[in-house]
Amino acid sequence: MSRLIVVSNRVQDPAAGPGAGGLAVALGEALEANGGVWIGWDGRVEQDPLHPVSWNEHRSGNLTLLTTSLTPEEHEGYYLGFANRVLWPAFHYRLDLVDYTTDHSRVYGAVNRRLAMKIASILRPDDRIWIHDYHLIPLAAELRATGCGNPIGYFQHIPLPPPSILAAVPEVNWLVRALFAYDVVGFQTETDRLHLIQQVQQLESETESDGEYVTAFGRSTRVKSYPIGIDADRFTAMARTPNAEEIINRIRQRNLNRSQVIGVDRMDYSKGLPERMESVRRLFELYPENRGAMTFMQIAPTSRGAVDAYVDLHERLDSLSGEINSKFSDFDWTPIRYINRQFPRETLAALYRASRAALITPLRDGMNLVAHEYVAAQDPDDPGMPVLSRFAGAAEYMDEALLINPYNIDQTAIALQTALQMPLKERKRRHKALMKVVHDLDVSRWSSRFLNDLSQLLRAVPG
Ligand code: ADP
Repeated sequence: MSRLIVVSNRVQDPAAGPGAGGLAVALGEALEANGGVWIGWDGRVEQDPLHPVSWNEHRSGNLTLLTTSLTPEEHEGYYLGFANRVLWPAFHYRLDLVDYTTDHSRVYGAVNRRLAMKIASILRPDDRIWIHDYHLIPLAAELRATGCGNPIGYFQHIPLPPPSILAAVPEVNWLVRALFAYDVVGFQTETDRLHLIQQVQQLESETESDGEYVTAFGRSTRVKSYPIGIDADRFTAMARTPNAEEIINRIRQRNLNRSQVIGVDRMDYSKGLPERMESVRRLFELYPENRGAMTFMQIAPTSRGAVDAYVDLHERLDSLSGEINSKFSDFDWTPIRYINRQFPRETLAALYRASRAALITPLRDGMNLVAHEYVAAQDPDDPGMPVLSRFAGAAEYMDEALLINPYNIDQTAIALQTALQMPLKERKRRHKALMKVVHDLDVSRWSSRFLNDLSQLLRAVPG
């Protein structure tokens, strides 16, 4: 039976129990099904002069986790440098935040080469390899250089911008060419897929595009959108456990008759958090009846604290929420509750369900799974409404959400007011349509769709 090899920047143990995210669960299921290996970084940074690059192997059922730590140089150049100061901002359309050095891109290439060597050393002829995200774009090319002919797929979880923006990434030609070492390249949306095709056509005049197949640089690659979702039934069930009910009751008692609006995001400049707080301020200005009657709860745990842009964002949000609170607060009411920490998934599910509306307003996002989670957690008999950025991948599928342009502060405030005032019948109609999308894009279906396409290539594998 063909094994599945999954490679991602970070390895999450799917056996982490109810805390494991939908992606870890879906990949864990796929890996368990036929046996597999999950390879990547264990999250540690260490310098051991005797064993600079050691690997750890951990078996769990049918699955082997093969992890390595990064050296300080690798962490700086590959992870913080090229991946998170060049590719992440550029792919989220933020060229102003790109901070490129040739040294970082060299280390990025070297880490990919090191991973490729390890994979090549354990590879069997009929293994399928599924590589995840922007940290690992050149990995297939490095594997091909070792003689690997196995089916290799790549899924990009974040957006791909159009050529006019990609052109500013100094290594763009290398990266695009590297994508053609894959057999299957997947994106979240049709828009991202078209951007790759446009980019390749600019680089290589011989490019041919025939349905899902794009032929360039001497290889034919299947380029397709595979929109990702969540483990929908599991998340819905999580919002209904006795523990979740208790949290919801506590929130309702605390809020008295006030409604709650929620935002949940990793603290990242792509999430549009300052613009979101401004739109809450605008809501209180445009519709003063919400003063004292609505609380906005923003949950945003710190992420990537070692990158300057994230430190600046942290300070800006502290000061904005403080400013809005000091202007509008009353002795018994605070307009914004800004919470800077992680919560268990069950608590999040309860918080979503207790919220009349959600502000999901990234400036740019690959998919945005919070949109799916918020919808899945709602009570179908009295659902809340998502206000969703049209620049999140989710907007390409969720046209019954209240779609907004997050740069338009007034429009977001008006949409939030619409969500808060929406009659039950309309909320139920929209929620039903949104739930269908959440189920259609369920993460298990997503992994099956991708793996079916990848597995079709097994016949072509020599030996
Ligand atoms: P991204 O992958 O860019 O962080 P997504 O919206 O696609 O954005 O996914 C974010 C995931 O992180 C969601 O599953 C969400 O529930 C989870 N998450 C965000 N904030 C928190 C938090 N404070 N505690 C626990 N999980 C969180």
